[in-house]
Parts: sequence; structure tokens; C-alpha cells
Amino acid sequence: MHSSIQSPPRTRSRRFGSIRKVMRARGKRSRMARRVGVDITKSPTHVGRITRMRAGSVPGTFRTAGMMSLFYRDPARDAPRTASPPREREARLRASAVVVSVEPAMMECDGKRIGDRVATRPGSTQGGQGPDSTEDMQVKIASSRGFCFGVEDAIELAEEAVKTHGPGRVVALGPVIHNRQVVERLEREGLGQTGDLDAIDPSQALLIRSHGASPETFEQARRRGLDVVDATCVLVKRAQEVVRQLHEEGYHVVMIGDPEHPEVRGVIGYAPDVTVIDRDTDLEEALPYRERLGIVAQTTHSPEHVAGVIARILCRPYREVKIVNTLCLEVTRRQEAAIQLAREVDVMFVLGGLHSANTQELARLCREVGCETYHLETWEQFDPVMVKGKSVAGITAGASTPESVITEFARNLEAL
Ligand code: SF4
Repeated sequence: MHSSIQSPPRTRSRRFGSIRKVMRARGKRSRMARRVGVDITKSPTHVGRITRMRAGSVPGTFRTAGMMSLFYRDPARDAPRTASPPREREARLRASAVVVSVEPAMMECDGKRIGDRVATRPGSTQGGQGPDSTEDMQVKIASSRGFCFGVEDAIELAEEAVKTHGPGRVVALGPVIHNRQVVERLEREGLGQTGDLDAIDPSQALLIRSHGASPETFEQARRRGLDVVDATCVLVKRAQEVVRQLHEEGYHVVMIGDPEHPEVRGVIGYAPDVTVIDRDTDLEEALPYRERLGIVAQTTHSPEHVAGVIARILCRPYREVKIVNTLCLEVTRRQEAAIQLAREVDVMFVLGGLHSANTQELARLCREVGCETYHLETWEQFDPVMVKGKSVAGITAGASTPESVITEFARNLEAL
């Protein structure tokens, strides 16, 4: 004898009611997906990878780029608190366990597995593969290198200010840019420099460099009646504004960056209690549990590094994480070009100030590709042993390195 369980026939209104419910749910989900740009139920690994791709490929300039929001929710945490059958509970526990277990992989990913962009070139070695002479030395220069528009603007403003106020009447708070040669030239033309705002005479003008400054510094200058020439890069200004907005929206602001870098010191002044996360920061100690995090990054960091840190953050149980892409596209383009070139040459020369964060990052990325790399300021530091046994040399330069330094280096290298 056969028995079958039959559902009671659905009434017309019940059927349409459930169809409407499904359509509403789908609409909500696709709206969410459009806004978020990723599937929110995926793992932090997936979210980190998408973040890296976004950070490295936002089209146009960042002046027009909008905010990129990203929310990750642990499905297990959001589940209704009703007793569930054992199998279901087990599945939820497994979902949570996945989140926890990816953490070591994430750390390994930092700059490597996430950063396919810097995947080691095939068959690369740290030594050169060319002949033991430099007779046939070929020199290649990165397609994107040297001065960015922010640095050009800052130098132009400094020169104009000296012309307007007169030599010795304008004082920069710290080096205008991280390039010794340019700073020395501006000093010769009459631009003063100090690290102490109180040392500036009220009859002199204050120049705020491209890295920007905190609101406190501007307030202090106003109280002292100083004439302020603001050369803060527009992209740094945007990062400052984003930090202020995130705080106003109720997020605890996290900045991925070097706490000693002048840009970071200025940006974090736009919200109280900002947590700065550096390469070696222990998240357990530095980032106590908060419901809502708002994340920004130092403009000169690489997408690989930022994505790696974000992935580590997402491994922790924050209910909402909002990421605003504050990376500088000028820097990202120079990084792409340097990585591309490092794959083709035997040795890379990265030219620029030894304290310049974006130049240091270029050198780090080239080394990560597996190319022997030297970070030098000018030709003066060159040693012929650096090209011994190499046949193709590549040159790139940080965003504060003048084209004249690059040209001189290339000419001398070719003439060896
Ligand atoms: S590197 Fe980017 S953020 Fe920094 S000054 Fe240049 S344009 Fe501005």
C-alpha cells in the first residue's frame, strides 16, 4: 500500500504572497550586491581579494571616485536565536570555523597570494643572468615614474609664495616633499624650514607641505596670526575629509599606515581616537572589539598591503566594516609600471628620497617580484658592482623625484 503526503492546495493569494516575498528578497539582495560589489556571504579571503582588485583598478582619478562600502556579516551571528536542529547547528559552527581558520592563510597572503600583481617572475634569481661585463648594458625606464601632480603643485605653490612674500619670509613646516635635492634648491631660493610652529615669526608665512597637517596645526597658526599657504595634496585632503565623515557617521576609524609618516599624523587629527595599523601591528592588542569600523589607508600604500591588512581585520568578529579607498592612483600606476619592468630586467634602480614612503614601497614591490633592486637618491650612490654580470637595467622613481635625476642616472648608466 502506497502512502503519500500531500500538501493542501494553495490559495491564489497565498501563492502570490510568497512569490512577492521571494521577489522582494531578490531585489533587496541585488541592491545590496550592487552597493557592496561583493557577495556578503563569502569568506574574508574572497572579500580581501575583491577589495584588492577594487583598490587597484578604480577608473579615473580619485577626485571623482566615490566611497566604496563593504559590509561583512558572519551568517552564524545573524541567524535567529531559536533552537535549531543539531545538523543545522553543526553547519553554522563549521561556517564560523572557516572564518577563524583562514587567518594564518591571510597573513601568508599579505603581499603574496592576494597580490598576484607581484607574483614572482618565473625563473627569477637575485643574481644577474647576463654576461660578466656591462658592455651591452640596456637601460629601460618605467612608463610611469617621478613627479606626481600633488608634488608639482606643492613645489609651484612654494616658489610662488617665496616670490610673493620675498626670500626668507616663507617657512615650511617640515620638508615640502621627500626629496633632498628639491628641498635644498628651494632653500637656496629663500624658503625656510622648521619642525616647530612656535619658531615661526608672525611676520612670516607658514607653508603646509603636500602631506598636509592636522586641524590643530591650522588652529595654532590662526591663533598666532600666521599667513598660511596650504600646499596639501587634494588626495590627502580627501582622506582627511573621509576620516572626519566616518567619525561623524559613528564608525571607529582605522587608518592603515605608518604612524610616524607626516601624512598619517595629519589625517588622524580629523577624528578622535583613530587606530593606526602598521605592517607589524598586533591586531589583537591594537584593535579592541568595536561594532562598526571605518577603514582608510595612507595614500602611498600598495593595494596588496592594504588588502592583506583588511583581510586580517575581517577575520575578527566586527559587525560592520566600511572601507573607503583613499589610495592614490598616481602611486598605484607607478607601482604597476615598476612591477612590469622588474619582470623584464636583471637589476632595478628605484630613485628617490630614502625617507619617501612611496619610493620605499616601489623598491619593496620590485624585490618582491624577485628582481635585484637598489633604492638610491642619485647617481652619486651608484657603485659599478651593482650592475656586474647584468645586461638589462630598469629605472623607476618615486613621486617626489625630478625627471632630471632620472635622465642623468639613465645617461650615466648607458655610458658605462
Ligand atoms: S603621491 Fe598621490 S597623494 Fe601623494 S602628493 Fe602625489 S598625488 Fe598626492
